[in-house]
Amino acid sequence: MSAGDTFAGTQLRLVARSAKPAGTVVDIRGVRIGGHEIVIMAGPCAVESEAQLLSVARAVKAAGATVLRGGAFKPRSSPYSFRGLEQEGLRLLALARTETGLRVVTEVMDVRQLPAVAACADILQVGSRNMQNFTLLEEVGRCGMPVLLKRGMSATLAEYLQAAEYIMAVGNEQVILCERGIRTFEPSTRNTLDLNAVPMLQRQTHLPVIVDPSHGTGHAWMVPRMACAAVAAGADGLLIEVHCDPAQALSDGANSLTPEAFALMLEQVAAVAAAVGRATRLTLNSETAAAPV
Ligand code: PEP
Ligand code: MN
Repeated sequence: MSAGDTFAGTQLRLVARSAKPAGTVVDIRGVRIGGHEIVIMAGPCAVESEAQLLSVARAVKAAGATVLRGGAFKPRSSPYSFRGLEQEGLRLLALARTETGLRVVTEVMDVRQLPAVAACADILQVGSRNMQNFTLLEEVGRCGMPVLLKRGMSATLAEYLQAAEYIMAVGNEQVILCERGIRTFEPSTRNTLDLNAVPMLQRQTHLPVIVDPSHGTGHAWMVPRMACAAVAAGADGLLIEVHCDPAQALSDGANSLTPEAFALMLEQVAAVAAAVGRATRLTLNSETAAAPV
């Protein structure tokens, strides 16, 4: 085991860049996260129905996403808000995966949900509110599946990297980091998207770093520009909320792009990627894709 690095006064071991200078690539059946190509993960905030999920899944795939996102278990501030379809949502995600060939990322909020979520997902998402749920971190680590660990909304980068260390310390090397905005004194955006985090994390760790400008801004109109900015800053991927009818969305309609706006955004993202010497992975391999859209 590498002695690791010191970062902001904390000792990093397995996550430290020095432990794997070449960088980690998380390979989800041919979709490589952390390589030369920028990976696009997109879909609704929450799975709402079969028609809603399949229509948005087909649309984001046609535009260039290779990973479908969508919450079946939703962490909501109010207990009276829509909290997800739970098991039925997982069933629909599995259906969308089969129908489109897209890889699936979805949140697991609690260790009790883990077996069911693991059966339907390719990537387990640990949400911002659970970044320091150390029991959950160890269990998703033991599960052996790729983990998308979102930054806690009030977490420093050192705390964030130590949370990733928890997952790696139980033997799971497939961790993807995701900057999704932090709480600051600024009320005009939902969060303050901390793009400083991208180069700083990439300097300190070998893990892939993606950016979620949807939760990072809270405004759909800001998402394309901040997505481009994230790619310019060096992000390895983007996590984008898309809904075919944002005004009717059961959660996060305000920061959800229409499929048309999403497709336009990806053209801009591809141009920025090319300008910084990266490529965008906008199609699935024919051998790994399932049914055509
Ligand atoms: C999400 O991506 O579905 C989500 C709830 O985001 P966060 O955990 O970043 O708030
Ligand atoms: Mn959301």
